[in-house]
Amino acid sequence: MSGSDSLRLLKRHVTQLRACTACPDMIRPVVTGTPVVSPVMLIGQAPGDKEGPAGKPFAWTAGKTMFGWFSQIGITEEAFRERVYMAAVCRCFPGKAEKGGDRVPSPLEIEQCRRHLETEVRLIRPRLVIPVGKLAIAALGLFGPTDTDKLVEVVGTATRTTIAGVEVEVIALPHPSGASTWHRTEPGKTLLARALATLSKHDAWRTITAS
Ligand code: SF4
Repeated sequence: MSGSDSLRLLKRHVTQLRACTACPDMIRPVVTGTPVVSPVMLIGQAPGDKEGPAGKPFAWTAGKTMFGWFSQIGITEEAFRERVYMAAVCRCFPGKAEKGGDRVPSPLEIEQCRRHLETEVRLIRPRLVIPVGKLAIAALGLFGPTDTDKLVEVVGTATRTTIAGVEVEVIALPHPSGASTWHRTEPGKTLLARALATLSKHDAWRTITAS
């Protein structure tokens, strides 16, 4: 498929995605990034309450932290949004949990939204995928049966996996939420620095940071 065909189909996909109403407990609008056929795809968890009104993913404090990390390795927020396809495990705001914080999407919601992600991976065929946060890392099956949800086993390493039949390299990042101390304390701080250094050397990352 040519690049222009992929872009046309991706734009059509994003239009359909924005009209999705598959999950009755999710709060719309559907939040999407710029439709761009990029060698790099970022996969977030789910938007918060600020992203819908802003009309873009990572629009609030977590985004500020994450784009701060990326600015250390050669790309501004504006350029990243233009050059990288920003997907997520779920594209709608799940609402607040009873105990505070955002509700974790249900397995059914994750499964329903995964078809959108798989369509995107098939259309874009990224070389590098960056899952951000435990939910995104788990959705790619990177936590093994004995090391469930241990970020220390995953962050700071590069691995390969297959999504929707497309083989990709994966470099995981912790969630940049202000509520999490993982990336600000050891060993998370060192592992995050290692992950960013690994990202900065990846050929797909170099492609998007070349001006
Ligand atoms: S979370 Fe995903 S599958 Fe569910 S309504 Fe939103 S876009 Fe559709």
